[in-house]
Amino acid sequence: MPLENPKSDFSKWYSEVLLRANVVDVRTPVKGANVLLPNGYQIWEGIKSKLNYFFYNTGHQNAYFPIFIPEEFLEREAEHFEGFVPEVAWVTQVGTTKLKQKLALRPTSETIMYHMYAQWINSHADLPLKVNQFCNIIRMDTGETRPLLRDREFQWSEAHTCHVDASDASKQIKESMDIYQGVFDALAISYMTFRRPPHDTFAGADYSIAYDTLLPDGRILQIGTTHNLGQSFSKVFDIKFLDKDGETKLVYQTCYGMSTRVIAAVIALHGDDQGLILPPEFASTQVVLVPITFKKSTEAVIDRVKELEKELMDAGIRVKADFRENYTPGWKFSEWEMLGVPLRIEVGPKDLKNKSVLFVRRDTGEKFSVKDSEVVSKVNELKKEIHKVLLERANNILDELIFDVKTYDDLKKMMNTSRGIGRGNWCGSLNCATKIKEETKATIRGTREDIDETPDGPCIYCEKKGTQMVYFAQSY
Ligand SMILES: [Zn+2]
Repeated sequence: MPLENPKSDFSKWYSEVLLRANVVDVRTPVKGANVLLPNGYQIWEGIKSKLNYFFYNTGHQNAYFPIFIPEEFLEREAEHFEGFVPEVAWVTQVGTTKLKQKLALRPTSETIMYHMYAQWINSHADLPLKVNQFCNIIRMDTGETRPLLRDREFQWSEAHTCHVDASDASKQIKESMDIYQGVFDALAISYMTFRRPPHDTFAGADYSIAYDTLLPDGRILQIGTTHNLGQSFSKVFDIKFLDKDGETKLVYQTCYGMSTRVIAAVIALHGDDQGLILPPEFASTQVVLVPITFKKSTEAVIDRVKELEKELMDAGIRVKADFRENYTPGWKFSEWEMLGVPLRIEVGPKDLKNKSVLFVRRDTGEKFSVKDSEVVSKVNELKKEIHKVLLERANNILDELIFDVKTYDDLKKMMNTSRGIGRGNWCGSLNCATKIKEETKATIRGTREDIDETPDGPCIYCEKKGTQMVYFAQSY
């Protein structure tokens, strides 16, 4: 049975495709704590390996910190505590003994990491320090949960850095933006980079940069953040170093993270009514081989498929041959399409005779013959080509749904129809932001961090002087 079209009923499509394409199973005992199935987990593994590649080349190191955070740690930075406390899960009792001090299950790791940093950092020679942690995060959101979009337990990468001065920390912010661009580009995800308004800045940060993508239903999904923490945490956790000039100084800090939410973006941006379409680099199976057998020729076809499988494997391509006998080729085709395998190769008796095979692209549905001698090079060429097509499509989704809003009516109309992202002027007042959110459900995503833009008219809400060009959108 085909799926909904993601553009006509995204919500229904999304919940169906997750289970049918082996991404997430939500039939668990605790709401929002789901099973990441093999096809979803493979995308996460791919993201981790991409991050590791960039981290390694930029002097980051991976480490693992405890999940338990004493209450007193979270309380030290007041804003940080207030920001997280409504969602924190606490360990209050062990066996039958009540704990003297409650332990939080990490909602984020600043406090525990910085407690350690204070012990590790002594001199300017210890800086910069760049540590990344891959771990699970617990945030017991009491509202509605949605798999990968809003989970109570999820996986993420969080990198936390320390620097000698503000300028080195600023450079780190740029570096994190480049790293994330590398990851999003590899995933063929279209996105925009915003500096969040002060009322939407990470609890305890000087400012926050966020990466927003747009899903086909016109809602924004934040897929990563970078925070400039300044010295607010180093003051509280006493992270000091002896500088070259002989003075003891506090470090400047940054942190940045991305989570399994990114998987949702990959699925939503590239999927269709047949299921997933995975960027080749992130597909657990890049090529599926399907033998088309008829009684007489079965053995020869099977032999050829086995040979081809070995040839592709030897060339470093992740390939699977589907020899199952109790399924028709047609049934197999739909199943592999649902799973998002980028390329299918069919081999039948006629192909044997012609010394060729039949290629079928998942992204375009295009079918064509390829000579036996050119199979590997064609697969490698198509891996790049399919990635390019996916990125173009994702960019189109974004381009089609960015509108200039000159008046508040424009924004209201937009939010009631196609949704998407409205670009317009804002006076900077929290009051206007709050009213806009109450009346249209759209929040201010911030000013563009990747390009320079200046206000060109009055605030769309109060019509006083516009002080910044911002983007309005409903979000997940
Ligand atoms: Zn205003």
